[in-house]
Amino acid sequence: MSDHGDCSKALTSLYEFLDHEMTDVDADLIRAHLDACEPCLDAFAVEEALRAVVRRSCAEHAPETLRWRVSQITTTVIVRRSL
Ligand SMILES: [Zn+2]
Repeated sequence: MSDHGDCSKALTSLYEFLDHEMTDVDADLIRAHLDACEPCLDAFAVEEALRAVVRRSCAEHAPETLRWRVSQITTTVIVRRSL
């Protein structure tokens, strides 16, 4: 049985994970969770894809509104998937 406590833990670690700011042990735990949990995997994949877009636009500008919208989109995906 997968427990939802792991989901919030995984999602709060999303940025650390994508920024490679976690220890190997913690990153492995996240990876194991993503293997078993499709909603979280989707959330991570969306965040990663959006980051690529943001990174590209950051070359010119990093508008706060874009960053805000990105976080809103990610949140929406997570909320929708957990319904
Ligand atoms: Zn999960």
